[in-house]
Amino acid sequence: MKVLVVGSGVAGICLTHELIQAGCNVRLIDKGGNASSAVAAGIINPLVFRRMTLSWRVSELIPFARKKYAEMEQLTGNSFYHPLVIRRLFASEQELGFWKTKQELPEFSEYMETLIEEDLSFPLEQNTFGTGRVKQAAYIDTDVFMHANHAYFQSKGILSEETFDQRELDPKEAVYKGVSYDFILFAEGKDGKSNPLFSYLPLQQTKGEVLTLASETMYAEESLNRKCFLLPLGDGRFKVGSTYAWDTDNTIPTEEGKQTITENLKSITSETYTITEHKAGVRPTVPDRRPLIGRHPVFPKMVIANGLGTKGYMIAPLLMHELVDHLLKGTELNAESHISRFPHAPL
Ligand SMILES: Cc1cc2nc3c(=O)[nH]c(=O)nc-3n(C[C@H](O)[C@H](O)[C@H](O)COP(=O)(O)OP(=O)(O)OC[C@H]3O[C@@H](n4cnc5c(N)ncnc54)[C@H](O)[C@@H]3O)c2cc1C
Repeated sequence: MKVLVVGSGVAGICLTHELIQAGCNVRLIDKGGNASSAVAAGIINPLVFRRMTLSWRVSELIPFARKKYAEMEQLTGNSFYHPLVIRRLFASEQELGFWKTKQELPEFSEYMETLIEEDLSFPLEQNTFGTGRVKQAAYIDTDVFMHANHAYFQSKGILSEETFDQRELDPKEAVYKGVSYDFILFAEGKDGKSNPLFSYLPLQQTKGEVLTLASETMYAEESLNRKCFLLPLGDGRFKVGSTYAWDTDNTIPTEEGKQTITENLKSITSETYTITEHKAGVRPTVPDRRPLIGRHPVFPKMVIANGLGTKGYMIAPLLMHELVDHLLKGTELNAESHISRFPHAPL
């Protein structure tokens, strides 16, 4: 099988590994520039703190991601997957109460440490209502992940810098620039919004900003979380974020974004720091918070792998595996993330 993958963020990288493993002849192209995957903090968190619920399909996604990132580390000879303890600083008595109730439930106890005295009396002036530790969290060092995988694909002659040009495509025959493919997979992130084949889907662009800090004194044993995350990277470096701005595809960091993050950070720490980097990216989000996966209803050789939202690093390994299985073996796709949930107007 000959397959073209458009976009080399975490979606395109996971797809390309799956396709190579399945014995396909793969070509991966990327136009360069700002990939959300390079800006992301890469945190894998099984909980959604706002509602104190479990993340979608978490019991399948987390073990699969762990296994796949380990395989990629082996292949590329780099280390980028790091287990992490996330410590939530409760924002209210009510949140503490939610944790106490949920930690008793079997489906939650896999991801929540049972509260002990040290959690409640965690020595930080911002700790008013106690804290809780999340199990099975991790983070991907996104700089290392992106560079390592791109270098690996380049060494195999698979990856090239090129912008996909829709005018050169025959979607019915899957011929692009005169070359015939079995499938063309669009993993274009936020730019998928301007792909005419899939413009009927409700892909949104949600900008986010993140800071890198240097501090000798900030707590670096765990990732603290309240209003924002503070992710220790080692050597006195931290990532902190992020912000949400809807319906914008510009990737320019703003003063307002920086202010919001530094203000939120006060609810976690009063230690001093210096800002060493400020980045912005645009998440490919969907109103129902489910990805956009599947074959085009009229041109089945045209395939979309997008809408990974705020949790692309957790979701991509399993969903891209399921997509490749679907294309090569005809297995069913998960209905909640299948694009068939959105009606397609006849062309
Ligand atoms: C501030 C911030 C913090 C985040 N933190 C986290 C986090 O902690 N954990 C987590 O899991 N997720 C996080 N995310 C979300 C995560 O970044 C996304 O879910 C994920 O990166 C989306 O990956 P993707 O491959 O779909 O898109 P992208 O990474 O954007 O990749 C798309 C690629 O396609 C290329 N492309 C597009 N169109 C074309 C074309 N026509 N021709 C050629 N190439 C093309 C682009 O150049 C780009 O490289 C965060 C995002 C932001 C912005």
